[in-house]
Amino acid sequence: MSVLLTGGLGYIGSHTAVEMLEAGEEVVIIDNLSNSDKKVTNAIKEITGKDFKTYIGDVRDEKLLRKIFKKEGIDAVIHFAGLKAVGESVKKPVEYYDNNIGSTVALLKVMKEYGVKNFVFSSSATVYGKAKKMPIYEDFEIGGVTNPYGRTKYFIEEILKDLYVSDNSYNIALLRYFNPIGAHDSGLIGEDPNGIPNNLMPYITRVATGKLECLSIFGNDYKTKDGTGVRDYIHVVDLAKGHVKAVKKLRGNCGLKVYNLGTGIGYSVLDIVNAFNDVCGGKVKYKFAPRRAGDIDECYANADLAYKELGWKAERDLKDMCRTSYNFEQKHSK
Ligand code: NAD
Ligand code: UDP
Repeated sequence: MSVLLTGGLGYIGSHTAVEMLEAGEEVVIIDNLSNSDKKVTNAIKEITGKDFKTYIGDVRDEKLLRKIFKKEGIDAVIHFAGLKAVGESVKKPVEYYDNNIGSTVALLKVMKEYGVKNFVFSSSATVYGKAKKMPIYEDFEIGGVTNPYGRTKYFIEEILKDLYVSDNSYNIALLRYFNPIGAHDSGLIGEDPNGIPNNLMPYITRVATGKLECLSIFGNDYKTKDGTGVRDYIHVVDLAKGHVKAVKKLRGNCGLKVYNLGTGIGYSVLDIVNAFNDVCGGKVKYKFAPRRAGDIDECYANADLAYKELGWKAERDLKDMCRTSYNFEQKHSK
């Protein structure tokens, strides 16, 4: 049986494809290249020495999905495909609802036609909004999100819960990612955003390689140890491994499950800059700038449930996250 990875050529999807293939799974990818490159297919093959099928197309294309389900013997789906830029989602809400929710609904319709009931969804810590205390547990209230991107994640979680209520023979894992950074040790795959990066680590690596002048640290007056925002950064390879465990869990008929995928450790922006400088021998120039709209003081997980039920926990440290991010940027970015 094969696992379908939608958005499998993207940042998290490509690392997951590698870990799935290395765990002996058969993988099929569908990606419309809206935020990725066809070359990633070859990189995944080079890393793993394994072959797999890639369909270039849109997940909202039900005809194409039917073709894939008919041909490929899919027994589980990991749904990464989606648009993910918070700022852009405020400007283009309809595109975000169409792409993120439309692709999920199309998938669920076709999965039903083919009797496929194992589904992993790429959710996000953003569904918790501004949590009342830290660390964040899976049973905290969700839905207090402040932008269309976050709302697509929340709405899709609700759709999947409704589906499960209607038919509890589905097995669904809602994986709430915290802040993935880092890259594969090979430097062949990693995060390579178009234009000026919105996220912290790609911005830092581009300052370190001289492509950008200076990092703006958004806010130094948060209620945190040094005033800068605190997040739970997780190595993308650890995150990818969580998906391998989740698919195994689904095949054991687990019903609907929610897991935080984070390290449980909160680092500030200054911690990240300092760790990066230590590891990469650089001096990342930074200045303090006003807070970014919508940002919160801190956000970090309690990830004990994933350890207890999936046997998964993050193993790579912050140094490794910085080292591999820098390695990828040096080798591969535009
Ligand atoms: P990414 O943009 O690198 O990967 C998404 C992939 O999906 C891209 O390759 C893109 O071309 C493809 N895609 C988008 N819409 C599509 C469609 N309609 N049909 C086919 N392919 C489509 O993003 P990522 O960082 O790998 O994130 C993967 C998932 O995880 C997304 O759903 C994202 O919202 C979620 N997530 C990401 C983060 C993060 O910080 N990276 C955090 C939490 C959740
Ligand atoms: N950040 C920053 N400068 C940047 C990008 C991000 O200071 O150029 C901060 C941001 O305010 C937050 C942290 O870095 O405190 C992580 O932001 P990112 O966008 O990477 O992830 P988020 O937690 O917002 O999803």
